[in-house]
Amino acid sequence: MKFVDEYRSEADVRKVADSIRALVTRPWTLMEICGGQTHTLIKYGLDRMLPDLVTLVHGPGCPVCVTPLELIDRAVAIARRPEVTFASFGDMLRVPGSELDLLSVKARGGDVRMLYSPLDAVRLAQKLPERQVVFFAVGFETTAPAIAGALLEAERLDLPNFSVLVSHVLVPPAMEALLSSPACLVKGFLAAGHVCTVMGTHEYDPIAERYRIPIVVTGFEPLDLMVGIRMTLAALEEGRHGVEIQYSRCVTPGGNLPAQKLLSEVFETCDRPWRGIGVIPKSGYALTPRFLRFDAAKRFDVETVTAEEPAVCIAGSILQGLAKPRDCAAFGRECRPEKPLGAPMVSSEGACAAYYSYGRE
Ligand code: SF4
Repeated sequence: MKFVDEYRSEADVRKVADSIRALVTRPWTLMEICGGQTHTLIKYGLDRMLPDLVTLVHGPGCPVCVTPLELIDRAVAIARRPEVTFASFGDMLRVPGSELDLLSVKARGGDVRMLYSPLDAVRLAQKLPERQVVFFAVGFETTAPAIAGALLEAERLDLPNFSVLVSHVLVPPAMEALLSSPACLVKGFLAAGHVCTVMGTHEYDPIAERYRIPIVVTGFEPLDLMVGIRMTLAALEEGRHGVEIQYSRCVTPGGNLPAQKLLSEVFETCDRPWRGIGVIPKSGYALTPRFLRFDAAKRFDVETVTAEEPAVCIAGSILQGLAKPRDCAAFGRECRPEKPLGAPMVSSEGACAAYYSYGRE
């Protein structure tokens, strides 16, 4: 298959691994930001092909993992209301809240549905005028344009029974938050190609400059990641910093301008709490005043719902690259994909699920 098979060639991946071994002279810690990249690295054993001097740590780029527990509780509170049809991307349905997850609400008779597109939720609201249809708007810059498009359509249709529970988060402020921590070990980033397909790379230039760090935008196939790792290590070994694009078949410095226009119409940046990390300034999207009438948190008055994280889960340390899943006492014991304690074990992009699925105990 074009643009897939050639990026999964074992022989080519091994050649790049050999060239990395010849290149590296000092210890370096790199972070891949996206959970999809984490899964590729672990699934194909790419981390084990690297020299011992290179350590990969896993970043906060799993949308399910970083959605705060209190947002799950707010979603559950809304979904339990008899007049509500609650729709979400699939992974969010299984994330445990303080007491229930959304699938349990469904099992108890709630109208909870899995959808692939927020526009489907708009169509559902048209079909069910007697119900309140709520979409759980989570994710990074990648999913936000689809939510923005759905809100513009809801506005065009003047739908009184559609709303969104917004928990969108943005990658560059999270990278800055990690880099500004004294505990940060990361010397180079593998940035997420799909986010940059939308946003371009210009937001990364000031970060690379301020922290004198190489940031390489990579794709998601094994060869993409291996080449991205080599580009990052080459920059580090040569003392260079700056932004480079490995994923040039999809990413340009300017990104997708029509998508960016949609985003600026519907969203404005806000301070946003990240699960296990805390509030990161200007790291989220909130609705602009024009779209506030579609805000489910206000419509159903759940803004004051708060929650306590389970003490055993060290997801926050894992998402900041300070620990690995196997450092968690519950990993593979009390916490498994069929009975998750924390979001990184639930999500198909979570680091704990990757380690568990591919036998990294
Ligand atoms: S193994 Fe489970 S409890 Fe431990 S950090 Fe991962 S999700 Fe949290």
